[in-house]
Amino acid sequence: MTQFTANSHLTCVSCGADTPRPLFKKACAKQDIELLQCRICSMVFLRPWQKTGPIALYDYYGQRMHLKKNELYSQATEASFKELLEIFEKSGTRGKRILDVGCGDGHFIDVCSKQGWDASGIETSPSAVALCRKFNLPVQCLDLFSPELKPGSFNVITLFEVVEHVASPGPFLARAEELLALGGMLYLTTPNFASIDSRILKSDWYVVHWEHLNYFTPKALKKLVCFHTKLAVKTLKTRNISLGLLNNLVKGKKRNRPNPGKAYYNLNNPCVNQEQRLRELASKLPVLGLAKKTVNGLLNLFGGGSTITLLTRKVYA
Ligand SMILES: [Zn+2]
Repeated sequence: MTQFTANSHLTCVSCGADTPRPLFKKACAKQDIELLQCRICSMVFLRPWQKTGPIALYDYYGQRMHLKKNELYSQATEASFKELLEIFEKSGTRGKRILDVGCGDGHFIDVCSKQGWDASGIETSPSAVALCRKFNLPVQCLDLFSPELKPGSFNVITLFEVVEHVASPGPFLARAEELLALGGMLYLTTPNFASIDSRILKSDWYVVHWEHLNYFTPKALKKLVCFHTKLAVKTLKTRNISLGLLNNLVKGKKRNRPNPGKAYYNLNNPCVNQEQRLRELASKLPVLGLAKKTVNGLLNLFGGGSTITLLTRKVYA
């Protein structure tokens, strides 16, 4: 867990500028969550990263150990993973070695393997590794900086909702770049701090949580990549509107105060579960699926979708 260290001195985690401005506080069971924003590059990050045990926070995959693949992996997610693999192929990957960093329950690796890719994963959560191994997936309990991972050895590296969890996202992306072969691609997703959801809900945005140390806008993410790597940005988009927002607008603002002992992806987190159900429904109802594509297109026009997706390529050795 080398990437989890306290950001005790108040400098920007992206550009290193000092005196970030306080954005807002969110009441929490033990101590308030406070977000700060860099005055130079607009990066947003959490002030107090308390050593309350990140490993314990991420050790919730054991709850899922009894589930079978078809109970754990959703068809809608599988379809979106297949679309992504097609994008990698159309973008001209020079090989099929994929590393999924923070691979969680291993769903992406499972889909990659079925589609003929040579995929493996790393996880720092021992219970996630145990869950993946139950499904015979090639997953190791390593972090990105582990010497077992050799520079230049992957054609694609994926980071699904990972970069918001690491204390030093710049060196983290630089290490991913190092592990890529020339021409290889780095793909990541992360919540969008400039989304409609975030702008309306502010501290009630359910993404504002102990687990999330960094909060990106598309612009701030692009700057982070430029500051710390030589990766060429191929596409930078936003997509999805969250059901959590609609629920809040219909029912009125419902305070969402995370308990530092409760994990964001806990099976009982109603916000995360709602999003999952909407995706499933959209995949089964063509009309809803079409509506979702139209909404995503509109959201991307002004960068207001709830998720940022970034595709980059290693063009310099
Ligand atoms: Zn900055």
